[in-house]
Amino acid sequence: MRLLLVEDDPVLGPRLRQDLRHAGYAVDLVNNGIDGQFQGEEESYDAAILDLGLPGRPGLEVLQNWRNSGIALPVIVLTARDAWHERVDGLKAGADDYLGKPFHIEELLARLDALLRRSQERTQTQLCVAGLILDEEHQCVTLPSGEPVELTGTEFRLLRYMMINSGKLLSKSRLTEHVYEGDADRDSNVIEAYIKRLRQKVGRSLIETRRGQGYVFGGDAP
Ligand code: CA
Repeated sequence: MRLLLVEDDPVLGPRLRQDLRHAGYAVDLVNNGIDGQFQGEEESYDAAILDLGLPGRPGLEVLQNWRNSGIALPVIVLTARDAWHERVDGLKAGADDYLGKPFHIEELLARLDALLRRSQERTQTQLCVAGLILDEEHQCVTLPSGEPVELTGTEFRLLRYMMINSGKLLSKSRLTEHVYEGDADRDSNVIEAYIKRLRQKVGRSLIETRRGQGYVFGGDAP
């Protein structure tokens, strides 16, 4: 899954990006409201983490502009500590959740996980599809035979996205958008190579190729 992180603090921004990457997300970091709004409008993110105190354009305005243009992106706003009015304003402007600074990264990860589960209409905390069980904390997968298999960061992001969207037709460009960061090499041959490696790890039959269209994970696509 790919996240937009809008945070101008030169220490907190890069640190959060690193922590989120460790947790298995692709992350695009921008440090002002104007670029933040643009990125949210132009790119396909699974969620955004938006600081409210931003140069260029305040976070609240960015959020209002997204919602006014019909962008339903799940958003967690970062607010100043004890500023209850910021939390209220953020929620009224269309935020899905908020977190007051300073916070522990574990809390942000837990809130993000809950928000993504809600937006994907998942009720289970563990991802189980077609006999595979994904361990999101350790970024590995257990096969139907019970055998655990290690995954690289990209393999994990790709498999997680496919398991969440099992049964749906996923084009290469959609997979690329949700698995890679904005400045990554987005050659579609790279996705093909990763699909091939995932098939070797989890079994060929789980990922079906629809020629010229993309892939379906776990079968049952209409
Ligand atoms: Ca700030």
